[in-house]
Amino acid sequence: MVIKSLRSRLILLLVGLLALVLLAVFVAVYTSTTLSAERQAARQLELGARVFRSVLDARARELATATQILAADFGFRQAVASGDLPTIASALDNQARRIGADQALFFDAAGELRIASAPGRDGQAQIQAVASLSPEALIAVIDQQPYLLVDAVLRAPLPVGEVAMAFRLDQALADELRELTGLDIRFVSSYDGEVQHALSTLPAAQQWPPGSMRDKQTLNLDGERYQLVQLSLLEQAPYAVHVQLISPLRDLLASFAVLKRELLLITLIALLASSLLAVWLAGSLARPVASLADAARRIGRGDYQFRVWLKRRRADELGMLADSIDLMRERIAEREQQLAHNAMHDPLTGLPNLAMVRERLQSAVAGGQSGVLAQCNLDELAQLVNAHGQDLVDNLVCQSAERLNAALPPRSLLAWQPGSGFVLLLEGRALDDAVLLVDQLLGLLADKLQIEQVKLRPQWLAGLVEWPRQGSGVTELLRQASMALADAEPGDHRVAVYQAQRDEAYQRRLQLARDIAYAPRHEELSVVYQPKLALASGQVPQVEALMRWHHQRLGPIRPDEFIVLAEQTGSIALLTQWVLNAVLAQVREWLSRGIELQVAMNISALDLEDASFPEQVEQALERHQVAPRYLSLEVTESALMREPERSLASLQRLRDSGISLAVDDYGTGYSSLAMLKSLPVQYLKIDKSFVLQLTEGSDDAVIVRSTIELAHNMGLAVIAEGIESEDTLHWLQQRGCDYAQGYFVSRPVAAEVLEAWLGEAQARFAYLAEREVGVSPSPV
Ligand code: C2E
Ligand code: MG
Ligand code: MG
Repeated sequence: MVIKSLRSRLILLLVGLLALVLLAVFVAVYTSTTLSAERQAARQLELGARVFRSVLDARARELATATQILAADFGFRQAVASGDLPTIASALDNQARRIGADQALFFDAAGELRIASAPGRDGQAQIQAVASLSPEALIAVIDQQPYLLVDAVLRAPLPVGEVAMAFRLDQALADELRELTGLDIRFVSSYDGEVQHALSTLPAAQQWPPGSMRDKQTLNLDGERYQLVQLSLLEQAPYAVHVQLISPLRDLLASFAVLKRELLLITLIALLASSLLAVWLAGSLARPVASLADAARRIGRGDYQFRVWLKRRRADELGMLADSIDLMRERIAEREQQLAHNAMHDPLTGLPNLAMVRERLQSAVAGGQSGVLAQCNLDELAQLVNAHGQDLVDNLVCQSAERLNAALPPRSLLAWQPGSGFVLLLEGRALDDAVLLVDQLLGLLADKLQIEQVKLRPQWLAGLVEWPRQGSGVTELLRQASMALADAEPGDHRVAVYQAQRDEAYQRRLQLARDIAYAPRHEELSVVYQPKLALASGQVPQVEALMRWHHQRLGPIRPDEFIVLAEQTGSIALLTQWVLNAVLAQVREWLSRGIELQVAMNISALDLEDASFPEQVEQALERHQVAPRYLSLEVTESALMREPERSLASLQRLRDSGISLAVDDYGTGYSSLAMLKSLPVQYLKIDKSFVLQLTEGSDDAVIVRSTIELAHNMGLAVIAEGIESEDTLHWLQQRGCDYAQGYFVSRPVAAEVLEAWLGEAQARFAYLAEREVGVSPSPV
């Protein structure tokens, strides 16, 4: 089990440590008291041994005296001298009974045992071992039993025999000795180490196993502990007689029991008290730590609205930690506030930013409020930055922000967003009112300013959109305001209001500009052909190829619309290549069927400006195996005027390779015929705007007639486009115009339709060759 809480660990540690210390003390006291009890017992035993010796000696002396009295008795000596054994035996018996001996022995002058007062089974006594105990006494083993033996020599006057009195080491002696020494006594006689005979004041001691007493200093009997000392009385192998003095430890230990009980009590009380102390101490450490951890968790959750403090003020490290965490909480809250402020404000001006406007606008719209959103920016901002540097413009913006802020009406929000300029939210205001207000504000900003020695008269423009009338989405409104701003112009129109139609056109332009590059890949492009009728012959030697784009969603798109877009977005080269390939493939196909037509296709100014364009055309001709004379390129007059020099090089190269060239839409640009003369072109196409309403005597008629004449003078063939009536056709034929192109002749049609038309046209225009006409040069 892993203990996780700090509190439990502290408690466990403190209590554990204390328990260990107390245990050590307890063990030390316990062992020292036991040792001391044992030492006391040993001393008692030592003392007892000495007492035992002296008691035994005293007894021996007493017996020796009695024995000598017997030996000195005249009658007894006479009986011995005369060898009267029955008399000797009865005297021995009397004497033994008198002094309480257990055995009385008589030895003759040769030392032979002649009489024993208490003979064994064989009628005699067996003295098995004898050893001296003191000068007066002996210890003997007679018939396997230990005896205290005292003897006396019988003299008459020479030694005639010897008499000995023996006292058994019996229970009575043991009891007596116990009384005197205060120790338990055990007599043991053994044969060859085996106990033969034992008696003791301790009943349990009889059962000791043989040999077990020898080396033991302490022993356990019936659950009692004893200490013993052993004295040797006789040692005559194989016989031995020992006395053991035994002291029970119980009483000695009992005197220490109180001490031990008290010690145990003190230990338990100390353990309990220390446990309580540990619990309190651990609590006083763990509680503040837990409360600080809780505070840290709250801060982690982003809750800073509380003070971090401890229930009890403390000056220690925990108190310092609490103060630090509280300081941290304050700083984080401040920083988060700063971040939140930064997220909603512009660092340059300190004004709210677009994010704030979005938020306010969103809630205003959601709340069903109406109002006006205005976007204001500097006219020609990029040029200003280029001329004076960003720092100066920033300075200008800051000053303007101050002026605007000072003049702001209530319920309005002024913001600055780099790239968008000032964004002004006017809640609850009508559009007319807002236009006047914003115009006034711009008036304030239009005052002359001097910044770092530069005098400026900044032109601010504004675009307005009203919500929810004109839009309700925040992003939509911002875009609309920005579109309106794009319409604003310095002067009377510095405040422009968003117009939905302009937006639609803009959206459409945006989509077309995006999609035009994919038109070839999506097979949305096609080519139609419009014939050019030769007015002198009624023949159709040439057609103009015109591109068509069928947008999959928006349907047919007029070339006037998409060509400009393609030029603006850089897709025009792609389209030109596509038309070139389509046209040449068609020519190749016609030629293969014997139809010989020169096809004129339109190219853009950008194509001419690309130096590799002539080479691309040549390669395409080669690829399709079409001779250059079947291809003609039309370039508008205005395109030629854009980069005359660069265009000239390309035109020259195209012309050199045998391709014929035409100036398209002549009359709409500012070129002079003199200038055209320097270009390698062969055809001049009078723009349809002069031809469409051609009537005799009109300005157009004058222009057309003089243009035809001048072009002829320069050796150019003239093509008139936009012929919608027979009169116009005839008029032009009359004035010597070379080719006619227009709805009257044919609308631009698909290749198959054109082929069918060509057949009918032969008959329809044959009459032209018959008509009387003015002089004209032959086509080139
Ligand atoms: P454009 O080259 O001057 O072509 C003549 C335009 O006049 C064509 O318009 C034609 O349909 C129109 N038109 C011809 N006869 C009449 C008539 O009797 N009455 C009226 N009202 N219009 C007539 P479209 O096809 O719309 O082409 C417009 C312009 O787009 C072309 O003027 C040309 O500049 C440009 N364009 C057309 N196709 C291409 C092309 O493949 N490449 C380039 N770069 N421009 C092209
Ligand atoms: Mg053309
Ligand atoms: Mg034209």
